[in-house]
Amino acid sequence: MTATKPQPRSGVLDIAPYIPGKSTAPGVAKVFKLSSNETPLGPGESTIAAYRKVAEHLEDYPDGSAAGLREAIGDVFGLDPARIVCGAGSDDLLNLIARAYLTDGDEAIHTTHGFLVYPIATLGTGAKPVVAPETNFTADVDAILKLVSPRTKVVFLANPNNPTGTYIPFDEVKRLHQGLPPQVLLVLDAAYAEYVQRNDYESGIELVATSENVVMCRTFSKIYGLAALRLGWMYGPAHVVDAINRIRGPFNVNAPAIAAGIAAIRDVTHVERSREHNSRWLAWLTEEIGKLGLPVTPSVANFVLIHFPEAKGRTAAEADAFLSKRGLILRQVTAYKLPNALRMSVGSEEANRLVVKALAEFLGKTA
Ligand SMILES: *Cc1c(COP(=O)(O)O)cnc(C)c1O
Repeated sequence: MTATKPQPRSGVLDIAPYIPGKSTAPGVAKVFKLSSNETPLGPGESTIAAYRKVAEHLEDYPDGSAAGLREAIGDVFGLDPARIVCGAGSDDLLNLIARAYLTDGDEAIHTTHGFLVYPIATLGTGAKPVVAPETNFTADVDAILKLVSPRTKVVFLANPNNPTGTYIPFDEVKRLHQGLPPQVLLVLDAAYAEYVQRNDYESGIELVATSENVVMCRTFSKIYGLAALRLGWMYGPAHVVDAINRIRGPFNVNAPAIAAGIAAIRDVTHVERSREHNSRWLAWLTEEIGKLGLPVTPSVANFVLIHFPEAKGRTAAEADAFLSKRGLILRQVTAYKLPNALRMSVGSEEANRLVVKALAEFLGKTA
């Protein structure tokens, strides 16, 4: 049968478009956006200055290979810059990985509450997303390995995961890798690595360095405070880097992002300050919200997953509406198969205190 109009490739119309976190609350003057895991501290001063400087030469194309940024990243993390690719956010890189390694009939595995970009990127290539069940809101290595088939080409693992905030120890990541056939690409998405303070956690650098089928993606959107600029990077084996460099846009990272990224990655003091703010308030929120009787999934990232009862008047959707009216914008996570939960980014002291107070009010308690 001939189509009467242009048809997208198979899979495209199966995609449920990604819905970003809300950023406004109608009728509320002061809004605290706690819906997209942005840092309440913003970028450091040297980063903002580097960004502004580029405004003097917006007529020039950026360096298409982002060499200066790759060198700075390589320097800070002790990596070979030739094995780094930068992207317009890690979204860009995750999609490029999917495009390079997946096609019709292939399968890519992610976990039940895994980051939604994975199934979107997978479906866009015509491949099929395969969902591995989690245990206690945490990736389960055995469940993933059980789903590997001859059609599996990619395994996506966010570690820590968004929106759950949970992680698996490096030993488990290594066990996952050992159980995968050599032709399957393991994608470790370490968007929140800088926040994790656990001795048994690693972002995956060592595993990438010693294998031919592992890549690690990182972002400047979270602890570095550059979400608006869209900047991420990946570290991978030379052959994967080569494939991604062939299909990426020749100028996929813009000049202000490159300049800001170089300054941000070198501003170790600012990163440390953000990490300290986060660990203090992550612990405080987990405890205070828990005291209200709302279970909070233990998080190692810069957000918490708060679980609500199903009882009318107490639900996650009703809590969201209640908080929004007060300018406190959290994230509904129904699309992540968590209809009874809200995700809250760790905010400023003011925002954190306001949320706990408002939640207490919502539940008819005093905090
Ligand atoms: C926020 C986030 C990213 C970062 O995406 P960018 O495109 O770099 O802004 C990547 N992975 C996960 C799991 C995230 O939560």
